[in-house]
Amino acid sequence: MKIGIIGAGLSGIIAARELIRRGHTVELTEKSQSVGGRLATRRIGDGRADHGAVYFTVRGEALKREVQSWMSANWVRVWYADPYPRYVGTDGMNGLAKHLAEGLTVHLNEHVEHVHIEEDSTISVKTDVTRRSYDQIVMTAPLPQSFELLGSLVDQVTPSLRRLVYAPTFVGLFECTGDVQIGEDGILDHDLTPGLLKVINNQQKGITATSLISVYMEEAWSEEWYERPEEETLAEVERLFREEVRDIDIVSRQLKRWRYAQAKDVWHEPFYRVSHQPIYLAGDIFLEADDPSGRTRFESAYLSGLRVAEAIEKNIGR
Ligand SMILES: Cc1cc2nc3c(=O)[nH]c(=O)nc-3n(C[C@H](O)[C@H](O)[C@H](O)COP(=O)(O)OP(=O)(O)OC[C@H]3O[C@@H](n4cnc5c(N)ncnc54)[C@H](O)[C@@H]3O)c2cc1C
Repeated sequence: MKIGIIGAGLSGIIAARELIRRGHTVELTEKSQSVGGRLATRRIGDGRADHGAVYFTVRGEALKREVQSWMSANWVRVWYADPYPRYVGTDGMNGLAKHLAEGLTVHLNEHVEHVHIEEDSTISVKTDVTRRSYDQIVMTAPLPQSFELLGSLVDQVTPSLRRLVYAPTFVGLFECTGDVQIGEDGILDHDLTPGLLKVINNQQKGITATSLISVYMEEAWSEEWYERPEEETLAEVERLFREEVRDIDIVSRQLKRWRYAQAKDVWHEPFYRVSHQPIYLAGDIFLEADDPSGRTRFESAYLSGLRVAEAIEKNIGR
């Protein structure tokens, strides 16, 4: 059985690992130049800064077991515990994705443009480079991006799923001089200047030797500023950052704009099968029915990848 996965973020990587473990041939197609998706780390000068997921937490047994093995391999470690552990990639969150994707077949720098069902029931995946055929596919991009690829097949997706929306997030990345101290552990996330969601010191977080601060903006602020010019937006992020953290010496600044950072609503099943087609939708918006947090996050992406792989295995041959 040849399975194609669109998107090499966490859910796609986990689905691929699980399907391979069960003996299937799997290929991932990823539009970016690297795996990881929203597990994103940027190199700045001699250092690195996370600008997607800040950390992850663990509630369920499945991820708990995995994290033990990731800790043994030194891929992740506990950043701080307050009171429950916040895990981070040892070399940044993207480093974890890269470790998890080792040995997988990933077609990088290929943007999937269209998906359709051939007469022989195989699924054709057309990218900006080539076209490939699969017996089954898993689509893990944020839903609006996956729906665009489905063409008229999207009519077979239940309308309530099509109505789910995501919120954007801006992240400012600031390279500073000197020894900047951000709280006790390198994170400020309470009672901040309006507009700011989190201020992270990547040095205190332990992923860089240089002074690199990631400033995460609130959802409402990001929505309000979404269409404004980048320079103006970055200047405002800096102004709010300076209001929160006084006397810092900034030497360089960059802005990251996530269009689909977090879903505003979630789907209470860990994946969705498009009608009776061999096409599955997965990703962090798909939560297990009994998910205790009700929020999209690292763990929901992980579980969605795992559960969609189990479902494909179960349905094959039916
Ligand atoms: C700013 C920010 C902060 C966050 N903070 C936290 C946090 O602190 N804790 C936490 O648990 N979670 C956090 N999250 C959420 C977490 O990062 C995500 O839940 C998780 O990484 C999503 O994984 P995924 O595989 O579902 O999706 P993604 O990581 O988005 O993967 C989808 C992949 O599909 C690719 N793709 C899309 N369209 C195409 C196409 N047409 N062709 C080919 N490839 C395509 C994308 O490039 C991407 O790599 C944060 C997210 C953001 C953006």
